[in-house]
Amino acid sequence: MTSKNEESHNRPSKAASAPVDHARIEKAVREILIAVGEDPDREGLLETPARVARMYAEIFSGLHKDPRVHLKRVFTENYDEIVLVRDIEFHSMCEHHLLPFSGKAHVGYLPNGKVVGLSKLARVVDEVARRPQVQERMTETIANMVEQELDARGVVVLIESSHSCMTMRGIRKSGASCTTSAMRGVFRENLSSRAEILGLILNQNR
Ligand SMILES: [Zn+2]
Repeated sequence: MTSKNEESHNRPSKAASAPVDHARIEKAVREILIAVGEDPDREGLLETPARVARMYAEIFSGLHKDPRVHLKRVFTENYDEIVLVRDIEFHSMCEHHLLPFSGKAHVGYLPNGKVVGLSKLARVVDEVARRPQVQERMTETIANMVEQELDARGVVVLIESSHSCMTMRGIRKSGASCTTSAMRGVFRENLSSRAEILGLILNQNR
């Protein structure tokens, strides 16, 4: 199921066509420094607004990309068993606090005559992560893209991560991890298929 929120988040927006406005970020960061009681003109902070602007351009670069392009180049294969890429490292930014969350994504699918290069799945994860995100939507977005572009018979995306907004503020629970999953096709409908793929993801090498 594709939520409205997810659709609008993935459509190339007006923001997607405009370049990142570095000057505007710099101005805003300077304002934040003043607002928290800092002196933005002291030596250590002089370059900070420009540095933050460059950093934001990088960590939000996914806003200007369509991850689906990585799934367009498919190969015709008779292989019809599970394809699973585990432990794809990612770094994203929680859109509620603009603090990082990072961890590992596992992406698996059951091909329907079409397979894609394994590194492409990692590229999709990377680009979807490089936007203001919530982990739940990130999980669904990746699953929907793989299901739609590969016409896969089944898709699973499982993401495990640690959120800075939980460890450095609020309830301050360090070490707490958050797991989300999205199942499509046979992994959603068939309990034994689901158990098989989750077993492959969770039990191997642990
Ligand atoms: Zn947060």
